Amino acid sequence: MRQIALFEQGIAPTPVVKMSGSYGENQYYIKREDMIPFSFGGNKARKAAEFYKEIKACGADIVMTYGSNSSNHCRIIANMAASMGIACHIISPEENRERLYNTRLVADFGATVETCPVTEVSGTIDRRMEAFRKEGRNPYFIMGGGHGNPGTRACVNTYREIAAYEEQTGIFFDYIFHASGTGTTQAGLVSGKLLADAEKRECGQPVREQKIVGISIARNEERGREVVRQSIEEYLGVRYDEVYRDEELIFTDEHCMGGYGKYTPEVAETIEEIMKSDGIPMDATYVGKAFHGMRRYVEAHKLQGKNILFIHTGGTPLFFDFLDRQNL
Ligand SMILES: *Cc1c(COP(=O)(O)O)cnc(C)c1O
Repeated sequence: MRQIALFEQGIAPTPVVKMSGSYGENQYYIKREDMIPFSFGGNKARKAAEFYKEIKACGADIVMTYGSNSSNHCRIIANMAASMGIACHIISPEENRERLYNTRLVADFGATVETCPVTEVSGTIDRRMEAFRKEGRNPYFIMGGGHGNPGTRACVNTYREIAAYEEQTGIFFDYIFHASGTGTTQAGLVSGKLLADAEKRECGQPVREQKIVGISIARNEERGREVVRQSIEEYLGVRYDEVYRDEELIFTDEHCMGGYGKYTPEVAETIEEIMKSDGIPMDATYVGKAFHGMRRYVEAHKLQGKNILFIHTGGTPLFFDFLDRQNL
């Protein structure tokens, strides 16, 4: 098994940059998680760095995961496995037949993609894991989207970087917005905040109010919040309602626009605008959609004079799929 130098040395804090617009008379900053220097970066690269440690520790010779082979998650896991010189086996729902740049990259990395009906996914995973073990192989399984404790831990690191930035600059964020999918990123951010707040209280330092808002890109609010809650409990090992008030968990499904991958012409306009004004590419499935959702949220809640941080969670290859669709 080969090492990945970047993951060995640890990911350096990603840049936080002030944005040019002041929509709703707020100050906007963006944390460029898309600039993590592995496979176009993003939160999946950050999560992969944590899974990498687990894979190394158990000496796995094959990485197995679940997800669409056009997803950012599958691209990064396939790339990681290729870098490590180990095999990658992806179970993909056959309902998804989209061929995007990620699909091509996954194929180039040499991953095996096994499709099955979405209803048979969990059985297929179990059977395949068992078959690998019978062959004398040592498979490591990663849940779809990099869900699970290592993924959550990765996003706790993101929060730590944000807190360090606030400390260094004296700029404190009243709101943190991001695209929420499996909820792992949100669980990590909230867990990171809970841990940081607890430390502050212990040192007798004041804890400022800060809202973390997940803009759902597909899931409905009830299901979305439930998964975030479970992930926090699993990671912190405490009961959620002992450490966090339910009304503090903001997961809004008002900007799903009909589901995964769907978006309105306004999202497309926002993406073009931000690329022109700030030179930041955003995809239409996650980041552009969530950025647009954030603006709607700011408007609906009449936020003014706030410091707002938006987390750019990556997905750059999907930006090019977006361009292809726009026929520019
Ligand atoms: C996966 C993904 C998300 C969602 O992250 P979760 O941790 O699953 O909520 C957001 N943005 C991009 C670009 C992603 O690839």
